[in-house]
Amino acid sequence: RPVVAVVGRPNVGKSTLVNRVLGRREAVVQDVPGVTRDRVSYPVEWAGRRFTLVDTGGWDAKVQGLAAQVAEQAEVAVELADAVVLVVDATVGATAVDEAVVRMLRRSGRPVVLVANKVDDARGEADAAALWSLGLGEPYPVSALHGRGSGDMLDAVLRALPEQTAVGRPDPAGVRRVALVGRPNVGKSSMLNALVGSERVVVDDVAGTTRDPVDELVELGGRTWRFVDTAGIRRKHRSSEGADYYAGLRTQAAIERAEVAVVLVDAAQVLTEQDVRVVQGAVDAGRAVVLAVNKWDLVDDERRRYLERELETELVQVPWAPRVNVSARTGRHLDRLVPAMERALTSWETRVPTGRLNALIAEIVAAHPHPVRGGKQPRILYATQAGVRPPTFVLFTTGFLEAGYRRFVERRLRETFGFEGSPIEVNVRARE
Ligand code: GDP
Repeated sequence: RPVVAVVGRPNVGKSTLVNRVLGRREAVVQDVPGVTRDRVSYPVEWAGRRFTLVDTGGWDAKVQGLAAQVAEQAEVAVELADAVVLVVDATVGATAVDEAVVRMLRRSGRPVVLVANKVDDARGEADAAALWSLGLGEPYPVSALHGRGSGDMLDAVLRALPEQTAVGRPDPAGVRRVALVGRPNVGKSSMLNALVGSERVVVDDVAGTTRDPVDELVELGGRTWRFVDTAGIRRKHRSSEGADYYAGLRTQAAIERAEVAVVLVDAAQVLTEQDVRVVQGAVDAGRAVVLAVNKWDLVDDERRRYLERELETELVQVPWAPRVNVSARTGRHLDRLVPAMERALTSWETRVPTGRLNALIAEIVAAHPHPVRGGKQPRILYATQAGVRPPTFVLFTTGFLEAGYRRFVERRLRETFGFEGSPIEVNVRARE
């Protein structure tokens, strides 16, 4: 799925624009269980095409300075997106910072859609027209707040998207995309080196693949893996709040481009909110997940007992993820990583036969019917699997199911069919 990044100075209305675009979508979105927080990327469907919208806004420029912040934001956008939406405040006009970003975007060759925001009425159109001076072609006048012009803008985004996406280009069958993710210093770069060091790095094009400068193709366990955004992994961290923020952004963008996310945590350190956020990002994106507990060489018995409790209580979103205890330093159990990735991907693509699915549903309905609510008792009539990557089920019911009951059905699906390493989605379609 192509990735579209939204960039622009603070307060030009990036988040409002993203919300506007998503608002149009909420009418058709399915009933997805599970919470989302601190999201930066969102699936969008417009005129029958799907893409992922990445909101690059989100922190204020006090730490780093405005120009540096916007430059870094644009740099991330250019590396990870197929097209960029540059938002400019039409009531302010083009600033020096906007012009610097434009130069960078033009050098990158990525398609850019220029949005002149805060054009709330026809009088503002002249302000928008003034932005032709940026040299990016037609500025699209939009009022993110009121919705004016956003449809035309989305049409322009679709036109700008290349047929073949530059990042996340479909690979030939057999090549799988993996994101090595985790907070800074968990050992991503060490693990990449350990994996790449022991195996052959694919230098030439595998038939039909295109080397992406931010990715690395590695042969492991008899197949070619595309490690996405290794440029982000190898980059030395700049120690500022801003760098953390952009590291988070890159992480989510890498997850979006991958099929399986290997989430690294540091066995020697207390689990943090940041670890949880990375895991949540992978689950939200609907990717297969493997948990790699790294630096196992540093774990003694006491730490180990505590760690087990932490993992159990903190990473409640992924009790289904295969876990490997590894050491990038000593090489311990690194050979278990690829089989775990394979298992997770197999689950991610599992299709359950309709007969077996409905046998389970019949059993649930008979043995554990939905509780009576307000004199009514919603019943599941039947179920189908609507899709894979990840497995997505639709329950056809006579009424709305309580969240608790839906979770119960989800749990039974897992108990029956496994899905080790894959999230599953359960949607409900009620016929009143
Ligand atoms: P990244 O920020 O996630 O890429 O982390 P790095 O790969 O740069 O590693 C951060 C630090 O942890 C470095 O000092 C590594 O040498 C160290 N490190 C990485 N993996 C291991 C491991 O398995 N065991 C130990 N003891 N140290 C590790």
